[in-house]
Amino acid sequence: MTYREWFETHGQKHAAIMTKLTHLSDEEVIVYFRYENMVQHEPDFCPLYAQNKKCHDMENLNCYLCACPNFRFNDAGIEQKEGKLLKSFCAIDSKEGAQFVGEDAIHQNCSGCTVPHHEAYIRKHFKRDWFDIMKKVTTV
Ligand code: SF4
Repeated sequence: MTYREWFETHGQKHAAIMTKLTHLSDEEVIVYFRYENMVQHEPDFCPLYAQNKKCHDMENLNCYLCACPNFRFNDAGIEQKEGKLLKSFCAIDSKEGAQFVGEDAIHQNCSGCTVPHHEAYIRKHFKRDWFDIMKKVTTV
């Protein structure tokens, strides 16, 4: 599966959940997307749920903005950088982010970054349409 395919599939899963939550306020929707609730009520949203694992070891992990609006990617490559194909990067150059430099390609490594999983951040960027929040992710 390419990243693009994962992105589209994930966005569709998000949208399907949102169609069930139209009776909830924005704040209640955010609460619904807390890891503990999602594991219980939306087991297919993330493959880690079945293993009772989190993508980041943090308290109050919230899954609403999984993928991160600051991520930029292009499966075909964005530009050549030092002889390697840059495939993704962080638009805010988060200090918690890193790069994975392979033989031919460079990828953004978000494994140490918790920015999109904090509820204060989600409140700031909240929209009910996940694809709208993420619209810049795929435009590079
Ligand atoms: S490093 Fe953090 S802020 Fe940047 S794209 Fe990755 S998760 Fe988002």
